[in-house]
Amino acid sequence: RQARFPAPQTLEAFDFDFQPGIDRKVIRELAALAFVERGENVVFLGPPGVGKTHLAIALGIKAVEAGHRVLFLTLDELLTRLRKASAEQRLDKVLQQLTYPKVLILDELGYLPMSRAEASLFFRLVTRRYERASLILTSNKGFADWGEVLGDTVMATAILDRLLHHATTINIKGESYRLKEKRKAGLLG
Ligand code: ADP
Ligand code: MG
Repeated sequence: RQARFPAPQTLEAFDFDFQPGIDRKVIRELAALAFVERGENVVFLGPPGVGKTHLAIALGIKAVEAGHRVLFLTLDELLTRLRKASAEQRLDKVLQQLTYPKVLILDELGYLPMSRAEASLFFRLVTRRYERASLILTSNKGFADWGEVLGDTVMATAILDRLLHHATTINIKGESYRLKEKRKAGLLG
């Protein structure tokens, strides 16, 4: 099964000691994939470098190993796909395709602001998958800032309402692993 993960970042390779704020029991429970069976969501929040994408991929790998269909897209890739589909009058077909994967990982919400049209496309995707199939989402922005990211607070509220109805949110507050590596190499002093 092809999920096109950007890197093979496994749960086994994740150093929980470096990020003590993460409850490893919660992650271990997610790795058992009951949330996938139930079509529930997982949201990883936190600043850059704390392991959001790593953990999202790690859960995706577990799901692939369990035989689930998994798709990984950055938010940017998703929106490009949906915009193109919309322009080509194929939105319904593409939204349908995007509901097949039992797990859809959407990486990096918040780095690029969305237009209203994009927020509305994203809303349609979330609605399609709601209570049917899982989303794993990562964001560098807290929920309070999603209105700004989506350019529309009403839309953001509607999206969050569905997204969080059945969801586990993991708020990572620790230090960037990337910076730690640099510091170790003496690059940051
Ligand atoms: P984020 O998505 O939160 O910006 P990433 O998940 O991309 O951060 O992590 C940045 C890099 O550091 C990746 O190469 C990732 O594998 C690694 N990394 C982050 N946290 C850990 C950790 N606790 N243990 C091992 N590697 C980590
Ligand atoms: Mg990331």
